[in-house]
Amino acid sequence: MSQTEIPSSAANITRANWSEITPQHLYDKCMALARNLWWSWHPEVVNLFRDLDPVRWRQIDHNPIALLAEMTPDQVAERASELVLYTRINQAHRRLKEYMANTRTTWGAREAGVLGAMPVAYFSAEFGIHESVPIYSGGLGVLSGDHIKSASGLGVPLVAIGLFYDQGYFKQHLDGEGWQSEEYLDTKVENLPMEPARDPNGRPITVEVETTHGKLFAKVWLMYVGRVHLYLLDCDVDGNSPEDRELTSRLYGGDVRTRIRQELVLGVGGVKALRALGIKPGVYHLNEGHSAFAPLEVIRERMQDDGMSFDEALREVAAHTVFTTHTPVPAGHDRFDGGMIEEHLGPLRQKLGISYEQLMGLGRVEPQNEGESFCMTVIGLKLSRRANAVSSLHGHVSRRMWAHLWPWRVEEEIPIGHITNGVHIPTWLAYPMVQLYDKYLGTEWHVRMGEPEIWQKIYAVDPGELWETHNALKSRLLEFVRRRVSRQSRRRNEDPAIIEAARSVLDPNALTIGFARRFATYKRADLFLRSIDQMADLLDDPNRPVQLVFAGKAHPADEPGKKLIQKIANLRHDPRFAGRVVFIEDYDINVARHMVQGVDVWLNNPRRPLEASGTSGQKAVLNGGLNFSILDGWWAEAYNGMNGFSIGGGTAHTDVEINDARDGEDLVRVLAEEIIPLFYLRDADGLPHEWIARMTNSIATLAARFSAHRMVVDYVQKAYLVAAGGLSSDMSVR
Ligand SMILES: *Cc1c(COP(=O)(O)O)cnc(C)c1O
Repeated sequence: MSQTEIPSSAANITRANWSEITPQHLYDKCMALARNLWWSWHPEVVNLFRDLDPVRWRQIDHNPIALLAEMTPDQVAERASELVLYTRINQAHRRLKEYMANTRTTWGAREAGVLGAMPVAYFSAEFGIHESVPIYSGGLGVLSGDHIKSASGLGVPLVAIGLFYDQGYFKQHLDGEGWQSEEYLDTKVENLPMEPARDPNGRPITVEVETTHGKLFAKVWLMYVGRVHLYLLDCDVDGNSPEDRELTSRLYGGDVRTRIRQELVLGVGGVKALRALGIKPGVYHLNEGHSAFAPLEVIRERMQDDGMSFDEALREVAAHTVFTTHTPVPAGHDRFDGGMIEEHLGPLRQKLGISYEQLMGLGRVEPQNEGESFCMTVIGLKLSRRANAVSSLHGHVSRRMWAHLWPWRVEEEIPIGHITNGVHIPTWLAYPMVQLYDKYLGTEWHVRMGEPEIWQKIYAVDPGELWETHNALKSRLLEFVRRRVSRQSRRRNEDPAIIEAARSVLDPNALTIGFARRFATYKRADLFLRSIDQMADLLDDPNRPVQLVFAGKAHPADEPGKKLIQKIANLRHDPRFAGRVVFIEDYDINVARHMVQGVDVWLNNPRRPLEASGTSGQKAVLNGGLNFSILDGWWAEAYNGMNGFSIGGGTAHTDVEINDARDGEDLVRVLAEEIIPLFYLRDADGLPHEWIARMTNSIATLAARFSAHRMVVDYVQKAYLVAAGGLSSDMSVR
């Protein structure tokens, strides 16, 4: 059959309406949808791809380009005719076109129009946009992804710069003993929604960055995330040594030298890429210290273009730079010794006309202290006029942490503010909840989701309907868990009886608690086991059972983190916990989505105040989950006594052992005395009305405040607009 003919099955059903549409035409529309990650936060479009082939869809990480690549236009047309997908494809395609064309009536056009020709350049080492684009490891990446999705939705002029990792972060498997192993898989570039970025003359771009021992080259990819262009630098190019071709293969892989070279490519290479693209940013936003070399290259540009001195250019560039710090853990800040810095920044330093000591001074708290290494957070703070932490509490911690940079100031005057993190609601909200919100909030919530007033209408929701929707999502989570747990058992070649048991693990009526995060020891995944006997009794109560779902990766070099995973995973061999505590391997955006959409309770128990913000609990809120958390990060400013549960009173003992013991006791106490009784308190109609009231209170008080739309609006109003004008402010760093 030629591609202009209509397959007979399609023609039979829809001849009258669709006789104009050829299979190729239909296929092209699907591909156009697949090539802009806009689809990933539109459940109707996600469902459309899934319906083309539900089994393959799951097998290939929900990647629509990979799916379409396996199908011919005729096959797509045939599937579409069987399911009458034609209308849905056409509608989705039209919506995408309208979305892309509509740049004049957005919030950004009204409120951030001055950024128009000189956009924000948003730098981040990772972007978590969708599980099929594996260039993220965890929280920082998901935050960056949510940031640019909301920037797209609000119409804020912004371009994003990151690195392309062709192996991404590792895939996690656990062996029979619960020990984590890491596997790196090559990503097929042709299956990703990106293309070579081109300069204004249409030529693909390669940037070069000089080091003392030769040049590093990187090509530049362009990925479409709604209206936002995401540019990704990739060192796998001719001209690089074989070793350097692998420089950007893995996220957070390699040694210190790999790290500084990646950061050189991201920061300095990123600025060069923008210049080659003909983009003149009005604001540089450095999301975490990884990209903090970027302002040095911008300073060089200003000296070259405008004949400024180094000092003049530094002041000028800092005025246009915004820096966000994410790490309250001292070891989390990248540091490099003088040799590393000189090897990689020596040539740039010479162009800047500054001495080795001057350059090192920019990365030191005490510029003259030769014993101090070069810290990326310090240079980030010194080269930006506005700096922020990511929650109110983290703001306090950061001001104390970096007070010695401004020894003449009292702590409250340390110029680090805070903008609390938020999540991109359309990405994390389950479709049945979207439909519920459409019904009760009116469809305008889609454009006003960052405004608290919109969410007040949730109090009018019918409790039975909310509960039923939540339970449907909980069933979906349980199905997912069973599928995964039995797959894990099959992969380990376990006993048929164990594999069979996995198929019915967990109880749909039991109180279900989720815990998923990086397995770093300060996050204390095993806190609930401090009173192990008491916990076992609580879980095993036949009238009021409780169950826990865990997921999370440990950094490959983090042995204590891996031991924690092992401890949790091996509970399946303990008869007191078997079937009640499960560990899902390979935590990623897909696992996260299932968990935050289906749990009753989201648990978070880090050692206060080490959690900068946390965002996974915010995702649970949107879907009706209740937070049960240490008063740390975002929860310290979110909890009101009625919108979830707290562990500890917002204090921490300086003795870690005492602190952990107290928090562990409080966890079990709150669970036993508050959470379990409230969950199982049913009225005559069988509904837990008080529990549902908390769900409603949680959504009403938290959804807008902890949305990425609110966050991006804050960045625009408190940081970008000021930086675009080059104005100094009360957050002034120098
Ligand atoms: C949301 C998310 C995170 C960050 O959540 P935290 O609360 O900071 O742990 C990490 N990883 C994935 C896959 C996520 O979706």
